Amino acid sequence: MGKKVIVAGLGHGGIAAAALIAKSGYDVTVYEKKSEGTLGYDWTDIFAPQALEIAGMKMPPEDKYEYKEDMTFFNPSFTKKLQQHVPAEKLEIKMERRDIYEHFINHALECGVKIVYDCEVKAPIVLGNRVVGIKTEQGEIYGDLIIDSCGMNSPVRSNLPSFFGIDKDVENGEKINIYRAFFNVADEEPAEAKFKVMLFPGGIQGISWIASEDDHTDLLIGRFEEFDMKEVERFSDFLRETNPRLGKEKIRGGQFVEIPVRQPPAIMVADGYAAIGDSAFMTVPLIGSGIANSLKAAKILANTVSTDKEGVFSADTLWNYQTGYYKALGASLAPLACIKLMLLTLTADEIDYVFEKEILTDDLITIGADFTGIGNVMKFDPKDLINKAKQVCSNSELLKKIINCGVRMGNVSAACTMMPKKWNASRVKAWAKVYNYAFK
Ligand SMILES: Cc1cc2nc3c(=O)[nH]c(=O)nc-3n(C[C@H](O)[C@H](O)[C@H](O)COP(=O)(O)OP(=O)(O)OC[C@H]3O[C@@H](n4cnc5c(N)ncnc54)[C@H](O)[C@@H]3O)c2cc1C
Repeated sequence: MGKKVIVAGLGHGGIAAAALIAKSGYDVTVYEKKSEGTLGYDWTDIFAPQALEIAGMKMPPEDKYEYKEDMTFFNPSFTKKLQQHVPAEKLEIKMERRDIYEHFINHALECGVKIVYDCEVKAPIVLGNRVVGIKTEQGEIYGDLIIDSCGMNSPVRSNLPSFFGIDKDVENGEKINIYRAFFNVADEEPAEAKFKVMLFPGGIQGISWIASEDDHTDLLIGRFEEFDMKEVERFSDFLRETNPRLGKEKIRGGQFVEIPVRQPPAIMVADGYAAIGDSAFMTVPLIGSGIANSLKAAKILANTVSTDKEGVFSADTLWNYQTGYYKALGASLAPLACIKLMLLTLTADEIDYVFEKEILTDDLITIGADFTGIGNVMKFDPKDLINKAKQVCSNSELLKKIINCGVRMGNVSAACTMMPKKWNASRVKAWAKVYNYAFK
């Protein structure tokens, strides 16, 4: 076969795709800027284990994971809670991020993937219409297919020529700023809810959680606006008033990070190029989970590669990856981005109202937060939301926002169904305009 596949960045989707593609006989090398053994964050992640099987991986050893608790959602005033009730067969697993990486990397190495650490990728190498390689701190490297798995701020994606039509930057409101740390347990009394998720706590736009574990309390603060350590301290003290288990001694973590929470890109392939994972904004726009989606995308990408018998890897052949991804996930994720856009316009009082009037219910919260991308993806009919809101909502300003959201969701879903089945550069670009406009 002799074709050379380069994976830029050791993201979850990239390494899973690398393994599947190497297994089918290609020469696959991953270039990662960090050093061996230093990947990931100092905390746990939650994802659907079924995604491992889809990407051809085994389950990790049993002592490396546990099943996640259902979440309890609270309104900004903490007057009303909604309880997730995920059926046993759909429960996600919780695992240390470094163990997830170890599991994925060992699998990839067994499949024949080569990994070059300490090698920062600077930019793509583009010849005419085609991505032919990557510029790295170790020099230029050429390949037949470049898989961009460098995450949300990928220097490969953001340095592509504009005429490719691929989104380069992530705007404000399209990403959420996160602070996360594990603190000691200050009070042994059982918490009000084991996994407490708070919407707009303290009246500030964003989402935070406090998860009570046996030996620590897991605090996550997520906001659309940037914030600093001083604000973390102020806000943690505010949360301690109603969450006495949250201690003051930081045990692990304590970093600021960003997660993309936006619609999937209109175009994620070009001649010689395919984006995956956070580089292609594959996270669930409402909750920021991206591991399971990236694994599922890896399978779709690997299938596309293996059916490209000549190894042409043109936009033409790689378009099947994009259409396959939208069919499996993207077309269901895109409308959720509309709900996130609506959230950006809501006040804390309006969120209180949505909870108190039961416009949002246990069932809706279960579907919305359990978007695993496995099997039945969330079917969220915007008409149901509008009808529910019309029945109970006497707040005309809020009703207008909900109706706008429903209409936008309908437009976005319609745009997804209009995506060209076959690649044609001018038709795809015309469609991309329609799709992007639907989110305005
Ligand atoms: C705080 C936090 C909590 C999260 N929790 C969950 C969760 O519980 N469940 C879930 O499903 N998802 C979670 N996510 C999202 C999840 O991490 C991502 O969606 C998923 O990992 C896919 O992203 P990625 O691997 O493509 O990108 P990234 O995780 O950003 O990985 C990109 C890789 O590329 C490397 N890289 C970046 N730039 C370069 C460069 N220039 N040259 C070479 N290498 C480079 C990076 O070092 C990294 O190894 C969380 C994210 C954050 C930040």
